[in-house]
Amino acid sequence: MVKAVVGANWGDEGKGKITDMLAQNADVVVRFQGGANAGHTIKNKYGKFALHTLPSGVFNENTVNIIGNGVALNIPILVGEIDGIVSKGVPKPVVLISERAQIIMPYHIKFDEYEEERLAGKSFGSTKSGIAPFYSDKFAKIGFQVCDLWDDEEMLKEKIRNVSVQKNVLLEHLYHKPLIDVDETYDTLMKYKEMIAPYVCDVSSYLHKAIKDNKTILLEGQLGTLKDCDHGIYPMVTSSNTIAAYGGVGCGIPPYEIKQVISVCKAYSSAVGAGEFVSEITDEAVADELRRRGGDGGEYGATTGRPRRMGWFDCVASKYGCAIQGTTDVAFTVLDVLGYLDEIPVCVGYEIDGEVTTSFPVTRLLQKAKPVYETLPGWKCDITGIKEYDKLPENCRKYIEFIEKKIGFPITMVSNGPSRDDIIYRKSDIR
Ligand code: GDP
Repeated sequence: MVKAVVGANWGDEGKGKITDMLAQNADVVVRFQGGANAGHTIKNKYGKFALHTLPSGVFNENTVNIIGNGVALNIPILVGEIDGIVSKGVPKPVVLISERAQIIMPYHIKFDEYEEERLAGKSFGSTKSGIAPFYSDKFAKIGFQVCDLWDDEEMLKEKIRNVSVQKNVLLEHLYHKPLIDVDETYDTLMKYKEMIAPYVCDVSSYLHKAIKDNKTILLEGQLGTLKDCDHGIYPMVTSSNTIAAYGGVGCGIPPYEIKQVISVCKAYSSAVGAGEFVSEITDEAVADELRRRGGDGGEYGATTGRPRRMGWFDCVASKYGCAIQGTTDVAFTVLDVLGYLDEIPVCVGYEIDGEVTTSFPVTRLLQKAKPVYETLPGWKCDITGIKEYDKLPENCRKYIEFIEKKIGFPITMVSNGPSRDDIIYRKSDIR
């Protein structure tokens, strides 16, 4: 059975924790999109880890971890992550890399940096991981697949030469930076080849067989619906599709095999970088308190360390986020963090040009949207350690049930702490 674990918000919802938890009973965990530009933070018996490229199943000895063709593969980062977890005592994970995955080239990272520099204050807030130049090249059909590393020398150099003709014009005349050196790039690719050779295979065939053998397969999404290149807050999005529907594309399995879509929703909101964020907390002191108390050790980027922008739970964005994902189950996370608040505002609508809507609009209208809040009473206690839904304080249950009703998707898991065991399963009346 194939299940997808994806984000319903702006990313950083706690997908890593939910995937790590579910991975204990999974045979295979697959990354199907994105690159090392965002990270999952995972806390388990081995310690606390920030993973950027590795699937969150790497902590389970029996789980096979797959990098699908849809991923933007940064080879040194991937190999560094494998070495990093092994050096902290995690048994060496089984990792398979699709021969069709494409490679983040050294010049992709440079182009990302140069473009941010050129745009200066008007930049997209890129993490400078090369993701946008990478996906641009992939769709312009001048990308490098992992299997290209096995081309003979002249063939591969010829490909690099072709790409560099185009790129060097920009490097010289737009960015005024050093040009691409074909031999140097080739040598780098040969180092990459050596690094990943043990892991490369036909991932799609492996997965088709695993499905036939009734294995449990988890597809692990990066970021969330609102950062999806098509359905998010374009252009302040990532350059790939972050939604479960892309899961089939990004690892080569049939779409109808995805039977369960677990959308991870955070009990409050956070976002990184620029872009529309209607329920953002405008009082900096209030935002900062939530930021400091948030997540596990504060809401700061796992990749960049940047402070995240903080907001109240947004029912409009989350309802849309869950709908686009095709949600069968909502995992509602970091609820424990809200235990300090006397009352908790929840965004239940957007006011746009004097009218209130609960439909998530296109960016042009989103820019004018003002949040409409309802305020719920807090529960004023620590709920970590609670294992049964009925044992949660009444106001806490009311908060969950209020949000479930507003978003219209069943909250079947409530996460009340960063560890694997901090989870409460719940029956929902919806569906
Ligand atoms: P991801 O990219 O969606 O996996 O999100 P992050 O890596 O940013 O995870 C969010 C942070 O919250 C991490 O530090 C997690 O350890 C932490 N976290 C996840 N679930 C919970 C929870 O239920 N409670 C608390 N306090 N922290 C959590």
